Amino acid sequence: MFERIAGDGHEQVVYCHDPRTGLRAVIAIHSTALGPALGGTRFYPYASEEDAVEDVLRLSRGMTYKSAAAGLDLGGGKAVILGDPATAKSEALLRTYARFVDALGGRYVTAEDVGTTQADMDLIRRETRFVTGVSRSLGGSGDPSEATAYGVLHAMKAVARRLWDTTDLAGRHAVVSGVGKVGYALVRHLVEERATVTVTDVSRAALDRAVKDFGVQEAPVDTAHTLPCDLYSPCAMGKALNAETIPALRCAAVVGSANNQLADESCVGLLADAGVLYAPDYVVNAGGVINIAEELHGYHRERAYANVRRIGETLAAVFDAADAEGIPTAIAADRLAERRIAALSEVQLLRTYPAAMEERR
Ligand code: NAD
Repeated sequence: MFERIAGDGHEQVVYCHDPRTGLRAVIAIHSTALGPALGGTRFYPYASEEDAVEDVLRLSRGMTYKSAAAGLDLGGGKAVILGDPATAKSEALLRTYARFVDALGGRYVTAEDVGTTQADMDLIRRETRFVTGVSRSLGGSGDPSEATAYGVLHAMKAVARRLWDTTDLAGRHAVVSGVGKVGYALVRHLVEERATVTVTDVSRAALDRAVKDFGVQEAPVDTAHTLPCDLYSPCAMGKALNAETIPALRCAAVVGSANNQLADESCVGLLADAGVLYAPDYVVNAGGVINIAEELHGYHRERAYANVRRIGETLAAVFDAADAEGIPTAIAADRLAERRIAALSEVQLLRTYPAAMEERR
């Protein structure tokens, strides 16, 4: 285990167990170099403990990169609760879990994720203040999906500036795959921008809602990614870009909200071969975490949305770095995050006089 967590540079992995409520949770703190490790709690019926640990280690590391690239004063963390939320979730279990979070003294700050809801965060708030995404009535920012979609829109504008020298999306054709919480909100923005939009989804209900509300075209799930278009936007599950789908792409750029869009590292090269500009997923979809981070110092929607708009500038910086260093955009984003962590870690070595004196006692 130590070798494994050292490999990806995790600081701390905490196993939480409570026999009375049946709680089994793992909290992974990947990095607190830039601030408290923020990341959601996933409640999921993992096939094995091994799968759960794998997931929490991978996801917490991803949060470090996302927050660092977004310019936030936050580190990366994530938690998983093992079990089926439909049957295993209870008030006592969540509040017990919240006490474990509280015991970390703010090194880890939690939020909603797959299998947990805003109502769950409200329960957790009763035991700890180290939680975000609580209800507006408790000072929270509500559902982050709107902010995420707003961030994707500004990422698309940055891509448009890069490719076509204008941020105007009017007349551009965007294919949005997955019209759930984020995808639906994104389609509304795109229609307002007078872009041409085609949507696809595995859910008939989700598809019908988007088509009816916005009068957009629909395409079959299996072939939507092959449509000739300007922007292809994966807003569903991970691994939308793989050895099969990438060679079939007929878009100028990929800009979507889905997490972990690349199936594996080889996809970076495949995208370059296909001549497709890839906007790195965690830069594009940081709107949710940027919005939620505002809660930590008193939520203010306008300030939060102004920060979300800066995703466009971050993406432009990633494209510039990729050009300057002759590297793919996915690698350029990682380097941007890693450099910021390294540079600010140096700053943190400058101790104040009283702190230094305290340490000598
Ligand atoms: P959601 O569950 O509300 O929507 C996902 C939609 O994708 C659903 O309508 C579903 O039917 C559809 N779908 C599933 N498989 C599909 C497939 N193979 N092809 C096409 N459609 C498919 O989820 P969401 O909150 O909108 O999130 C979408 C993606 O964005 C996820 O990958 C999520 O991790 C990521 N993301 C979301 C946020 C946020 O604020 N909600 C923030 C960052 C990243």
